[in-house]
Parts: sequence; C-alpha cells; structure tokens
Amino acid sequence: MSATLNTAEKIFSEVPSTITKEEALEILDGSLPLTTCLDKAFQERNRYYGNKVRIHILDNIKNGHCPEDCGYCAQRKNANSGVQEYPMKSETEIYEDAVKAKENGAYRFCMVTSGTGPNRPTTEKLAATIRKITDELGMKVCLSAGLLDGDKAQLLKAAGLDRYNHNLNTSQNHYPEICDTHTYAQRAETLDSVSKAGIGMCSGVIVGMGETLRDLVDVAFELKSFRVISIPVNFFIPVKGHAIKNPSVLTPELCVRILCLFRLVNPDSEIRIAAGREGHLRSLSATALFAANSLFSSGYLNVKGSDMVETIGMIRDAGFVPELADGGVLPEDSEMEALYSEKNFPELYKFKKS
Ligand code: SF4
Repeated sequence: MSATLNTAEKIFSEVPSTITKEEALEILDGSLPLTTCLDKAFQERNRYYGNKVRIHILDNIKNGHCPEDCGYCAQRKNANSGVQEYPMKSETEIYEDAVKAKENGAYRFCMVTSGTGPNRPTTEKLAATIRKITDELGMKVCLSAGLLDGDKAQLLKAAGLDRYNHNLNTSQNHYPEICDTHTYAQRAETLDSVSKAGIGMCSGVIVGMGETLRDLVDVAFELKSFRVISIPVNFFIPVKGHAIKNPSVLTPELCVRILCLFRLVNPDSEIRIAAGREGHLRSLSATALFAANSLFSSGYLNVKGSDMVETIGMIRDAGFVPELADGGVLPEDSEMEALYSEKNFPELYKFKKS
C-alpha cells in the first residue's frame, strides 16, 4: 500500500486528532523537545503528503475600500496605511494573472478580495471568472471574499470553486480583541455555509496577535471540529496602520512548534506556511516543511515575500519536491531551466556572452 494517501480531492478532514489539548500545550510550552515535536509531525506529514510541497500564489483582486476593522489588516477602515486601493480587477485581468501563476508552477490560484463579503452581482462575476480558469487552465481555484451565505456558496460551487478561504484567525475567546465590526460566530456561520455547499474548506490563523498558547490550542481544535482540510498559518506582520494592541514575541522555534501543533491536531489537513514566513521563521523556514506541506510564494496581501526561484530552491535544498496541480511533481530539468534562465540571472548570461 502506498504510504501517501491522495488527499488532493478531499474537501473535509477525516482523520481524528492523535493528541489531547494538554499534550498539544506541551508542544508549545517547550515541555517536549523540538526534535520530538518535529519527528511526530513529520510522521503525519509524510503519511498524507509524502515529500511534496504545494506552492500557492495569492492574487489580490480587490484592495482597500473595506468597512471592516480587523486589527491585523492594512486595509481595515481608518487604517491610513497608504495601501494602494483599487476596485475588483476585470475577468480578463484575473485570467491573465492565473495564466502567469500556472506558468510559474503554482498548484492553486488563490483570489482574495477585501470587504465584508460579496453581494449577488459580485458573486456572479466571481463565479464566471472561476468557471473560465477551471475550464480553460485546469487549475484549482481558491477564493477568499469574506462572509458568505448559503445561496452564494452554492453559486460558487456550481462554477467549480474548489476551496473557499475564511480564516477563524484566532480563538473564540480572543476574537473580540482583534475585531469589533463582526463576530467569531459570523465567521463560523460562513464556514457552515461553505461546508453545506460541498466546497473544500480553507481556514487558518494569524499567530502573534497577543493570544495565549491556550488560545492557539483552542483554535487548532476548533478548526478540527469544522473538518477544515486546508489551514494557512500566518505569522503576524505589524503592517503600517495595524491595530493589534499587544503583538506577541515570536521566535523561529515557537513558529515551528506552532506548525507541529496544527499538523498533529489536524493530521491529514494541508498545513500551509503563510504570511510572515520570511521574517518569523527565518533560518528555520526549511525545517518548518517537516511539519507543513504547503506555502505561499511571491508575497502576501500588501507585503512582499520571497519569489518563486528562492522558494523552489529552499524546497529542493530541504529534500522536498514542488507538487503540481495534477498531483505530479515539478520536473527537476524544467526547474533548473527556470532557475538559471536568462530572465532570472541576466548578469550570468551577460558574462557568458562576453
Ligand atoms: S481582513 Fe478583509 S474584511 Fe478584514 S479589514 Fe482586511 S480586507 Fe477588510
């Protein structure tokens, strides 16, 4: 029997947690050696995902103009953060972005819009774009567009939407500390609508917003209770204009431990290293892949990140392979071609020609 189960088409997590909340706390508080945590996390990571790493690219299709007040976000109302604001991109612009993402080896195309949630006409426009990308490019599409009711979720499902992202962000207990324009309960209702529509659920966290270790354990188990199949773990970036009162001190080791926690509580879920990888994990970025099987490349909402060449290099250096949308892996030859292409190393080619 193959050690790697095919979870690509799963929409819900199906595997029970292998640890209790008290054991989970020991991962975070240092009671367990880091190597023990990584060993346990890697066994689960390897069981469900082998040595593959999924690379995701975000496309911010609408920026700013948001009436919400999520404290971590540069686009929140009254943030005065200076982020570039623009209305939703046209279908053609989004499609061209998806073509580029596919050419760059992206597994999934993630579209993100600012705002409380889409109205009916916007949902219809999003549905048409999703249908075009899935039909013509064969890419899996993930959408993050805020609060969603059951009817809109059904419309997006019919268009071929593979995943819907709606982060819980933090525990129910801590939620009032980070936002006062909507509630944790409203977020949970959106997850319920997405689940009932049969769309894969992507929901994660932002770590470092003043939460306790117990809050992190709670939200890891809360995500488990929603049977979330994809969990982006963001590490808080103190963007200009944020309103988080007491950002936490995160060390690279704690960040790795947090990824181990999410892996062990949600063994068959895609655990994705999201925003803040470069600044918070630093030299432990590659180590983190022994717990996580997925990451973002080429930046985050309003913040730059490492590019595709660096990301693929880091994955290869750690002994993992980038996974393609069809479940195959990026061939080494084509990768090397890309790594040393004239586009990426113009100086090298200048030297060769001289
Ligand atoms: S996270 Fe989304 S809903 Fe919240 S302020 Fe930012 S853009 Fe608005």
